[in-house]
Amino acid sequence: MNDECKKLAVDLSAYFDQELDEAEARAVESHLADCADCRESLEKMGRLRAALHTATPPPLEQKLIQDLMQALRQPERRAGRDLFGGVRGRSRSPVTRGN
Ligand SMILES: [Zn+2]
Repeated sequence: MNDECKKLAVDLSAYFDQELDEAEARAVESHLADCADCRESLEKMGRLRAALHTATPPPLEQKLIQDLMQALRQPERRAGRDLFGGVRGRSRSPVTRGN
């Protein structure tokens, strides 16, 4: 990392946020063109920002997996079976049908 990179590290975040004026942005871009390190920094920054933006409460899928794991850990309650066979099994069960 050379001095230009250090100076640019500050500008990179401004560049990413599109806060630089045209001349500054062009200076950053021309440095990026021949500096892989700074391109990588910019990329990392982009990923980080994207991750922050998408940082939301656990998605439904995550909850489902958690419930599943819990259900599988409690075979005595047959929660795992209920999760999958409950709806289908109950309506189709020949045992509860009949008399
Ligand atoms: Zn650089």
